[in-house]
Amino acid sequence: MVEAERRSVLSGLAAAALCSRAVIAPSSAAAPSSGKQAPAFYRFRMGNYEITQVSDGVLNLPLADAFAPNAKRDEVNAALEKAFLPQDRMTLVFNPSIVNTGKRLVVIDTGRGEGRSTAGLFFENMAAAGIDPKSVDTVVISHFHSDHINGLVRADGAPTFPNAVIMVSATESEFWMDDGNMARANDRLVLNFKNVRRVMAAIQSQLAFYKNEQEIESGIIAVATPGHTPGHTSFVLQSGRERLLIQSDIVIQDIFVRNPEWFAFSDLNGPQAVQTRRRFYDMAAAERLPLLGYHFPFPSIGHIAKEESHYQFIPTAWNPTL
Ligand SMILES: [Zn+2]
Repeated sequence: MVEAERRSVLSGLAAAALCSRAVIAPSSAAAPSSGKQAPAFYRFRMGNYEITQVSDGVLNLPLADAFAPNAKRDEVNAALEKAFLPQDRMTLVFNPSIVNTGKRLVVIDTGRGEGRSTAGLFFENMAAAGIDPKSVDTVVISHFHSDHINGLVRADGAPTFPNAVIMVSATESEFWMDDGNMARANDRLVLNFKNVRRVMAAIQSQLAFYKNEQEIESGIIAVATPGHTPGHTSFVLQSGRERLLIQSDIVIQDIFVRNPEWFAFSDLNGPQAVQTRRRFYDMAAAERLPLLGYHFPFPSIGHIAKEESHYQFIPTAWNPTL
């Protein structure tokens, strides 16, 4: 478009905007704004299963220096800018999933635990979705970081899902419950070990263990995806001929999809996490499978496309019908 044309289009748009504002200007005072976000849950079907994504909320924190330990801060800021995210901030999203298989109600990961302002909203959003924690049959945990296990326990210390079996990876449990591993951990990681022991003590009588490739519930299969933690697990959901991937923490934020070589600050084994990420995303892209990302923007369902050396997350549009 030549410059004169561009200017005339822009001034035309501006005139149209002014004009429409004049026409639709309200004659009475504006209605008061609600000041509160709407409940955040989203439903869709996969085969015979009904899946509800339930938001636990979003954290917006100052960017940690070691957010991506093998990338420079400037490179991270450039990636944030490219993704239209605020620079020098880390925006972390948390989205547990609830699967109704028709016979069993299964929660996959549980959020950061209640009583927090902008993340820790799993319980109130679950209530808004009409799901009673007492009716949950099975809880499946992908790994033992606090943003996945803390929701197992209420603020008063009572188990959140009193009637559920709580399935955890045997490998993950062995790592975090090992006293030698805890003795060798740095200060930050020791807090993680202590948190795991606090939560596991509260739900001890409900615990059961799954192994790699085990069908945990009908059509819910564990796939070992180590690196983020030693027993980190993703899941394949299968119903009839349809399949869906639940990636868990293959990435902790969507800028890692475009920068798959970056380690995340919470990856216990960065090189292994990168290798796992590439293998998992190559498979997701090649098989064109829909995918849920715990840390993708709500409701976090979409596809992974491969673009030369990196990937792209393409969200699925909101669908008013199931
Ligand atoms: Zn996480």
